[in-house]
Parts: sequence; C-alpha cells; structure tokens
Amino acid sequence: MPDAAKRPLADMAKRNIHKTQVIDGFSSLQAVKRSGKGTQEAKFRESSSRLPDRKPETPSDKNPLAAKRIGSTAMPAKHHLTCYECGFEFVLTGRLEDTYCAKCRKTLKAGHHTISGEWTVDLKTLGTIDVRPSARADGVALVCGNLVIAGDVSTCDITVCRTATFCEGAIFDLDRIQFCDVEIGENYSLSLDHDLACRHLNVKGHLQANATLSGRMSVACGAAFKGTLSAIGLTMEDGASLCADLNLHTPKQNHPAPS
Ligand SMILES: [Zn+2]
Repeated sequence: MPDAAKRPLADMAKRNIHKTQVIDGFSSLQAVKRSGKGTQEAKFRESSSRLPDRKPETPSDKNPLAAKRIGSTAMPAKHHLTCYECGFEFVLTGRLEDTYCAKCRKTLKAGHHTISGEWTVDLKTLGTIDVRPSARADGVALVCGNLVIAGDVSTCDITVCRTATFCEGAIFDLDRIQFCDVEIGENYSLSLDHDLACRHLNVKGHLQANATLSGRMSVACGAAFKGTLSAIGLTMEDGASLCADLNLHTPKQNHPAPS
C-alpha cells in the first residue's frame, strides 16, 4: 500500500482515538444524567429555597439573656420631693426610700402610710399619707409629701409639701392645712366658703370656689369649676365645664426688692 493511501487511514484512526478522549457538552450532560448526579441539581434548588427560612437568626437569638435585658429596660422613676424640715426641693431617682436632705442634712423618712380607723400618732414622711373613708385622725400632726383625704382630719395640723387631694368623705379644716398643689378627686363635689390659695389646681370632680393660684388650673373631662379664678393658665379637657370670672395673668417675676 502506497504511503499516500495509508496516510488517510492513519489520520482516521487518530481522529477516532481523539474522539474517544474528548467529550463534547451534550455527551457530558447525558453522562451526568446517567450517573444520577442530575438529581443533585434538584436537591440543590430545594435546599437553596429552605436556607432563608433557617437564617433569620439575630444577635439577640444567639444571646437570649441580652434580649431579656433589652426587653425589660425601663427608665427609673423620678420623684420630685420637698424636704419637710427645711422646704428644699430635690429629685430622687429610683425607688422612693428614706434619704437625707442635701441642704439641711437631716434624715428624711419616705414611707407610705394608710390611715384607717382611729389614728393618734404623729407622722412625718416624704411619701403619701392616705386617709381612708371613715378613718379619723385625732389631733395629730401630719407632715407629708402628698395627702389623700377621704376621712376626718379636721382636728389635725397638716403640712403637705406637694399635693393635697380631697375626695368623697373628706372632713377637714382648711385653716389647719398647708399645701402646695390641690386636687379635687373624681365624683367629689366640694363647695368652699373659704378662699382657696395654692399653686396648681387640678379639678377632676366638681368645685365651687374663689381660687387664687400662682400656677395653672386644669379641669378634667366630666369635671366642673364654678366661681372666680385668678391663675397664670387654664387647661380644659373636652367635656369639662367652667362657669367663672377669670383673671388669667402672666407669672409674677421675682424682682429683687428695691433698696
Ligand atoms: Zn432640708
């Protein structure tokens, strides 16, 4: 056989050998299908769709204690207090408990007292004294931050550094009570012959009075005020009632006395 005739045969053999070694794209796909690897592709799609479901893990999930701390964080309570020994006003942050006055250095009690039945002991506290209905405090001295009167305190000498609240059932002698702010409790109707002088007046019930305030009066929804009012401001909620001679004026400035 001439070399020229042999050459094409050799070339064909070379090409055949080459064909068995090189796999084209279609063949590789078929091979993958036959080997079962094609099913892995479906599995991959499934897991890729599930992954986001597992992922919403936040730093707080990793540390549940931290999440609890964040959830239970609250601003500490602030108490605006007045020293019952010297009248110094200060703010106590956190729990209301016994403290001392930064000005006069005296120890101050801060307990809450509820008076029910007969009461014959003097009390002093930065906190609240709550005189319950039908209770009677007899001839004692009460000094407190706040006083809620729903019983008989008519024979007591009383100093309220903050707010005196008058409620249904209150029996009192205004000449024997000193207070800063006054509140008239809900569902309580009070008619005062006595002039009422205080800082702020908060009416939640019904009040008839001649009131002179160094601060503001507020009348709640469903509450009513009748009489005369001198104040630096007036707040009326929707549904509040007012029938009064009004004198609303600017706050008095504390100018130094002329020498
Ligand atoms: Zn003091």
